[in-house]
Amino acid sequence: MNYEPTLEFARAQDEADPLRSYRDRFHFPSLGTSELAYFTGHSLGLQPKTVRAAVELELDEWARYGVEGHFHSTNPWYSYHELLTPPMAEIVGAKESEVVCMNSLTTNIHLLFVSFYRPTKDRYKIISEAKMFPSDRYLLETQAQFHGFDPDDAIIEVAPREGERFIRDEDILSAIEANADELALVFFGGVNYFTGQLFDMPALTDAAHAVGAVAGFDLAHAAGNVPLSLHDWDVDFAAWCSYKYLNSSPGNVGGIFVHERHGRSFDLPRFGGWWGHDKDTRFQMKPGFQPMEGAEGWQLSNVPILGMAAMKASLDVFAEAGMKTLREKSEKLTGYLEYTVDLLAEEFPDADISIITPRDPAKRGCQISMDVAGRERKLFDDMIAAGVIADFREPCIIRMAPVPLYNTFEDVFTFGKVMRRLLADGGDK
Ligand SMILES: *Cc1c(COP(=O)(O)O)cnc(C)c1O
Repeated sequence: MNYEPTLEFARAQDEADPLRSYRDRFHFPSLGTSELAYFTGHSLGLQPKTVRAAVELELDEWARYGVEGHFHSTNPWYSYHELLTPPMAEIVGAKESEVVCMNSLTTNIHLLFVSFYRPTKDRYKIISEAKMFPSDRYLLETQAQFHGFDPDDAIIEVAPREGERFIRDEDILSAIEANADELALVFFGGVNYFTGQLFDMPALTDAAHAVGAVAGFDLAHAAGNVPLSLHDWDVDFAAWCSYKYLNSSPGNVGGIFVHERHGRSFDLPRFGGWWGHDKDTRFQMKPGFQPMEGAEGWQLSNVPILGMAAMKASLDVFAEAGMKTLREKSEKLTGYLEYTVDLLAEEFPDADISIITPRDPAKRGCQISMDVAGRERKLFDDMIAAGVIADFREPCIIRMAPVPLYNTFEDVFTFGKVMRRLLADGGDK
């Protein structure tokens, strides 16, 4: 696509965007700035306007029915989570029996590790990515320790090569080969939160299986962002949160995937709770845990209805827009942001701007992380003060997500305009 750095160009793209009406379905924060460009959907998605009514409905039902709402409300709470399964399964490319929404992300990964990280004296290693999200790093460390291993020995982190910014898939595959006999698990983020790199999940899964290891993914930055086919890729398990690209509200419940190959493995070790117990005998309240078939057999608790109501409203928007259309726009819009950053890099060589996200659209989602090595944090603070909302990591990495559901080409243009002004003001170094 041929991009141009003008407002006319940006507006013409927005005009032609099949998803242009979706922007109006979201609440944008008002931060008292003259401009507003929200690029933080990678951390907290915006609120769909339909969420309030969906939550109010459940508040009304609770007021009206009390406990009877479990069976008599408009969407009975007893089976409320089942409403979320079809749209969620669609988003991650799974069969409905392979997906359920429950708990929060880190909790869910720990629960899945109970079943899928089964280290032995000889086979206990986990291969993962360097610079993984801290919660995942703590999770791996404490899992290794829980099983009596030294994290430094058990966790193998694959890092970018000297002088490179992201990880080569071939280096992950070599690490899997090199540790073939000791490897228990390959556990990666689908999309790395920091660089935005999208990993080759089907290749990693095949490689893990070829050496007798299990393949699991944290899809926090992938679900609702990039196309996923977890079932066809033969992934063993995955988990994700719903409040980033899936816009379900802060800290809301996550989703899990368990491949159907494992869905009837009732002898897999797992932690039980009544909501994972066979529905037909759940209310007999007898001892003897009998897990349900499929992903639902990993549930523990009855579900938080208010959060799930918000999530349902949000997933309805996704189902309507469709991942295919979203992905098409995402590639163009992310390309425009990349182009805009490249122009800034050219215009302001002293700012030493570089992009640390892969250039290949097939290797990234809707994210551009830029390193502004020639400036300090003040640049970012000024950018926020001017109304361009992004995320900052030391030393001066700015992570931006142009989200296809609600961001526009004009937002990207605004970013370019604001940065040009701030960079022209000179550095603080
Ligand atoms: C956002 C994110 C988390 C957050 O975990 P919670 O348990 O939902 O707080 C964990 N891992 C990754 C990779 C993330 O991006």
